[in-house]
Amino acid sequence: YHAKDLGRNTYSFFTEDMNREVSHRVALEEQIHGALTREEFQVSFQPIIDVKTAKIIGAEALLRWQNPALGSVPPEEFIPIAEQTGLIIPIGQFVLTESLSKAAKWQERYDKSFRLAINFSPRQFRDPKLVEIVKKAIDDAKVPRTTLELEITEGVLMSGHSYIDDAISALNQLEISIAMDDFGTGYSSLSYLRNYPFDVLKIDRSFIHELSTSAEDRELISAIVAMAHGLKLKVVAEGVETREQLHYLQSLECDYAQGFLFGEAMSADAMEALLVNKKQPIANICPTNRGIAREEI
Ligand code: C2E
Ligand code: CA
Ligand code: CA
Repeated sequence: YHAKDLGRNTYSFFTEDMNREVSHRVALEEQIHGALTREEFQVSFQPIIDVKTAKIIGAEALLRWQNPALGSVPPEEFIPIAEQTGLIIPIGQFVLTESLSKAAKWQERYDKSFRLAINFSPRQFRDPKLVEIVKKAIDDAKVPRTTLELEITEGVLMSGHSYIDDAISALNQLEISIAMDDFGTGYSSLSYLRNYPFDVLKIDRSFIHELSTSAEDRELISAIVAMAHGLKLKVVAEGVETREQLHYLQSLECDYAQGFLFGEAMSADAMEALLVNKKQPIANICPTNRGIAREEI
């Protein structure tokens, strides 16, 4: 399998590392069954801010898994396993109901137009009940349909199955926003942007990261923002960590930003504390924040 991963038609010696990798994977698979009922998953929230006003306009729901035997497992490790085992279906449903109930509370208490972005992976689109589940979750939470933004990557669209197209247009007809996640990685196929009803484009954090050292990345970001605006899409810059990056995004009139500069993914309580104190500088009230005062932006 390792040789296949290297592009086939090659060979590969078995190593101790592979052994460790395999047993780690087996342990993950063992533990992920039942993790939901043992209540080991938690939804955390990362604020998304309006670049112009530096106000929080919503949050992205990001899943966390804390297991007694394995400790904290990063989503990059467990999401693929949840996908392969099909467990992503009930887990995804948990993320949906859990985060929508928080969004409903925050809309009622702090901000009527608070928005919630949720990641959906390819396997979830194979579920014929997906549209029904999403619709019911929104109705049960009693929030407007426009609250939800569904983040998908190109991986969802690549299979070209018609049921995926049908699900996306059905969700779009429900007034749910569709965001293209991690744009700039993978194929970044423009035909996807043309053929699907995207509302939002999220520029991958790798571009933002290199912004200060790479003139090419600055040009690419500028071109992506201009193109997206031309197509009437809103743009979110991911992984904003420094003021310099933010200032550049402001100069391009990028719409929204997300990143450690404003806050890492945090518990619902920490997110709520940010919303309570919305008139104060973010730096004073966010414990995980790496320090920015709203006035300074
Ligand atoms: P993503 O959708 O691209 O999520 C953004 C990731 O960037 C998050 O990692 C977040 O913590 C990280 N990040 C945010 N701001 C910064 C920053 O300023 N600098 C840096 N270096 N990183 C930043 P996380 O939480 O580890 O999630 C990884 C991936 O796991 C996500 O990538 C998403 O594809 C997937 N994922 C997470 N939660 C869910 C879920 O509920 N369902 C599904 N299907 N996938 C999920
Ligand atoms: Ca995402
Ligand atoms: Ca992303």
